[in-house]
Formats: sequence, C-alpha cells, structure tokens
Amino acid sequence: MHGSTGTAKATKYIFVTGGVSSSLGKGIISASLAKLLQARGMKVTIQKLDPYINIDPGTLNPYEHGECFVTDDGAETDLDLGHYERFLDVPTSQANNITTGRIYQSVIDKERRGEYLGRTVQVIPHITDEIKRCVQILGSGDEYDFVITEIGGTVGDIESLPYVEAVRQMRWEHPEDTLVVHLTLVPYLSAAGELKTKPTQHSVKQLLEFGVQPDVLVCRTEHELTRSIRNKLARFCNVDEEAVIQSIDAQSIYEVPILMQEERLDEVVLMKLGVDSRAVVNLDSWNQFLSRNKKPNRTVRVALVGKYVELKDSYKSIAESFTHAGAASNLAVDLKWVHSEQVHKDNVEEAFADVDGILVAPGFGSRGIDGKIEAIRYARENGIPFFGICLGMQCAVIEFARNVLGLEEAHSTEIKDYTPHPVIDMMEEQKNIADMGGTMRRGAYPCALAPGSHASAAYGKARIEERHRHRYEFNDQYREQFAEAGMVPTGTHPDSGLVEIVEIPDHPWFVGAQFHPEYKSTVVTPHPLFKGFLQAIVKLQDSRDVPSSAKRDTGSESA
Ligand code: GLN
Repeated sequence: MHGSTGTAKATKYIFVTGGVSSSLGKGIISASLAKLLQARGMKVTIQKLDPYINIDPGTLNPYEHGECFVTDDGAETDLDLGHYERFLDVPTSQANNITTGRIYQSVIDKERRGEYLGRTVQVIPHITDEIKRCVQILGSGDEYDFVITEIGGTVGDIESLPYVEAVRQMRWEHPEDTLVVHLTLVPYLSAAGELKTKPTQHSVKQLLEFGVQPDVLVCRTEHELTRSIRNKLARFCNVDEEAVIQSIDAQSIYEVPILMQEERLDEVVLMKLGVDSRAVVNLDSWNQFLSRNKKPNRTVRVALVGKYVELKDSYKSIAESFTHAGAASNLAVDLKWVHSEQVHKDNVEEAFADVDGILVAPGFGSRGIDGKIEAIRYARENGIPFFGICLGMQCAVIEFARNVLGLEEAHSTEIKDYTPHPVIDMMEEQKNIADMGGTMRRGAYPCALAPGSHASAAYGKARIEERHRHRYEFNDQYREQFAEAGMVPTGTHPDSGLVEIVEIPDHPWFVGAQFHPEYKSTVVTPHPLFKGFLQAIVKLQDSRDVPSSAKRDTGSESA
C-alpha cells in the first residue's frame, strides 16, 4: 500500500453497520479492526456518521449520548471518536464526525448559493451525494490506506436510510475498494439453552432489502459460536463461513482487538479487499499495556465528582485516561463515582474518607456546583491529591477565593451574573456571541508551563498543547491576590496570558487545568497529568507507609 509499493493505490472504504440492537459496540469493533490494520503498518482513519439532526453533539446534554469529545481542530464530536483516538493514537478532526444536520446544512447552503442550478434538491441524489462526498473526503489525499466509516444507529431506522443508500451506491460504484461489515447480536435463550440466529437473519434481510449485502458478519454473543451456528449464519446470510466473526463479551474494550485478531477479522477483510495480508501484525505496545492492566501492583481509589455520574459515558475519556495512566504505573484505579449534588458540608468527610485522590469533572451550569466546591475544600484542607478539569479547575478557584482569600461571595459569572468577586468570568471574545452551538473556545491551544511546577514535572517540557472547550476563564484581575495567598498560575497561554493551569505549591498535588487533558490520553501515550496525579497519590501513600487498603478499612470503619 502507500509507501510500501511506491505507487499510490486506491483508498479502501470499509463500512460498519449495526443490526438487531443498539449498543453492540460498533465503535469498538471499528476501532479494533483499525488497530489490527494499523498494526500491519497501514494508515487508517475511522469516521462516524450520526443520523441525528443536531449539527454536532456540542449542544447535547450528556444524558443523551454521553460525553462530547473534542478534537484538535475544535470539533465537538461523538464519544466514539475518543475510542478511535485512544486505540489508534492518531488525532481525528471534524471530517471524522458527520451528522445528518451537517449534511443537510451543507446541501441547503449550496441550494441557497444557487449551486443546484434550478434543479429540485432531493434526498437521492443530493443528500446521498453529500454523504458520499463526506466519506470520500478522508480518502481523497494520499493520507490513508483505509477509511473505516461507522454508520450510527441500527439498520432499519428511518433516519439512517440515506446512509445505507449511500453505502449501496458506493459499493456499486467501487466494488473492489469497498466492504461492508455488519455487526449483529446472536442472543442466548437460557430457557432453550441455545444461541439464536434468527435476529441476525432478519437484520441481514433488511439490509438486503436496501440493496446492501454484508461481506463480513461480526456477531456479538455471550457464548462461543459453534461451527454449526457459524455455518447456519453463513448460509442464510450469503457470507463466507470464515467471514462470520464471533465477538464474545470481553472483560475490557482493550481486549477486543486481540479477540478480533484470533477470529482473523483483519485477514478476512484484507483478503476480501484484495490486499496482501502477509505483513506482520505488531501489537507489542498494545500487549504490554494489556498485561500491565491485568496485573496491577496495587489499587488506588479516586473519587470522580460530577453531576452526570448516573451515566458513566458522560465521563468516558476521564475514566479511560485513568485506565491508561494506571497501567503505565502498574496501578489499578478504582473510581468512586460521587454525585456532586449529594455532597454537603456535613457528609463531605464520609464521602471522601475512603479515597486517595479527588477529581472534579468538567461541566456547565449551576447544578451540583456547591458539592464540587465542598469536595475541593476537603481535598485542599486535608492534603488529598486533587485534579480539577475545566469547570473543576474553575470551582477550585472559587473555593480558594471564598475560603482562603475570604471573598465570601466569589463566584463564576456563568453561575451568578452579579457577584462582587467574579473570579471566573466570561472570556472577552465570548461576550458578544449569542449562539450556543460551536461558539466556545475550542480545540488545541498552546500553553507555557512554569518551571518547578507539578505540571512541568509531569509533562517534562516547557510548552504543551491541549484541547479546550469553555466560555469562562480565570479573571486576571485576581492573579496577584491568589498568588500571594498560595494559588499560582503555572500554565498560561503564551500570547494572551490566559491562565490555563492553577496549582497550590504548598499541597502534595493540587492541579486545576482549564483544558481537557482527558481528550489526549491514549493506550500507548497515557496523559502526563493523569500519570502525575496517580504518582502523587502513590508517593503520598508511600511516605505515610500506609497501604491504601488498610487506610480504606479504617475509613469505612469510622464511617
Ligand atoms: N462551563 C465552564 C465554561 O464554559 C466550563 C466548561 C467545561 O467544563 N468544559 O467555561
């Protein structure tokens, strides 16, 4: 392929559709296949097409679709892009996440510009052409050997019909360079003691009604697929038996590439696309991560304080960052999900007595703010390693203003319009913006680190680049007052001087970041701040010479 033969070959397009049920893990299957192809030296990117009408998930409540993942170019995207980056260690961009809203917006904009020359604008061909354009844009340069496109939703949903039609057209136009992987469920009926193939048969029939014949079936199952089940699925669904791939429940999402390799998913895909499959698969660093992840030396307990903890997908990247950083230090991180609305002055001690560190999560709006501030006070006063991200950092500033500087009514103007001490205030460039969608300070910005800080020790360099998503910032007018009292800016934007990191040097590890480090943590490149946070916890435990489990017992007894 590119580079290896010297002649550029056509990019191959792999579509991943889903049938029978949602939540089968199309994102993880797509990322696992991509990982296996990448491990053979190929250049791969993954794209998600979301059939909803929102332009992007930026305006969605996390309860709807979980976390909004932010890319370097500031795109607010589906959380599956987080998986793609974590698996591949390659950045994605706006082009990797397209929604129906975006497709229609672009078609309607073209219509307004008169680009359709008076013709009637229709779903077919105009919407489907726009979908195909968005898919092929990633393969148009010389950058990728493979573009894997995950179609959101389940085949048969009204809203995903134009996407399936676009797949049908691409399959027809480029039979040799396209392939369809269909992910389905093979349920186990315990009363019958049997795995059932009928839902998969129906789902494939439905795809066939739309003119799409899947080339590969990936079957999600809780039990091993027997030879006869595979044979039956192959026969009823017109796929080769070796292209019936079992995806059995795994202990961790990071096991899935290995399971897919055992099932030879990558080999089958390459063979069907006519690509040489002899290259050696190098998964060394991935396997190193897996073995560390499976055999940690000790467990540390970290509280994750947020207002969406009922839906853990809301904090997906943070949880995964702990998995990566934990493995790097041979640690298991046991997350204690603490609902910020349920933390009060009188129960704060009880809530955090059994944790070794406290992370206060990002967020918007006033719900749960008081609990976050209380959690931070507890961490600051008790020397518990603390990590605040975005709103978590802003709450740390508010807490310090109130309880150390004595500015009792200090607040963020996001939460309270009129406060005598707006220690967190709207950024100048945000003040005249009325629209909510796509208007925050988003994406990668540089940040200069102060020597001697926890941040610079963690990163081991003086200048970094991190991803942002916010409207408010540390109010510079208070900078000196804070610094004199012991909270110092240790990371600033080199041009504007905006405060991006605050720390309390006189504390074991108290770091608040205005940016989102969690978006850049991957399996092979765990994030320095998450590693720094965990190492601070370990160091503190070692210095006290109290194993965390013993400490925990004491904690729960006293609770
Ligand atoms: N709501 C805050 C702001 O807009 C923090 C945003 C966040 O945590 N991502 O500045």
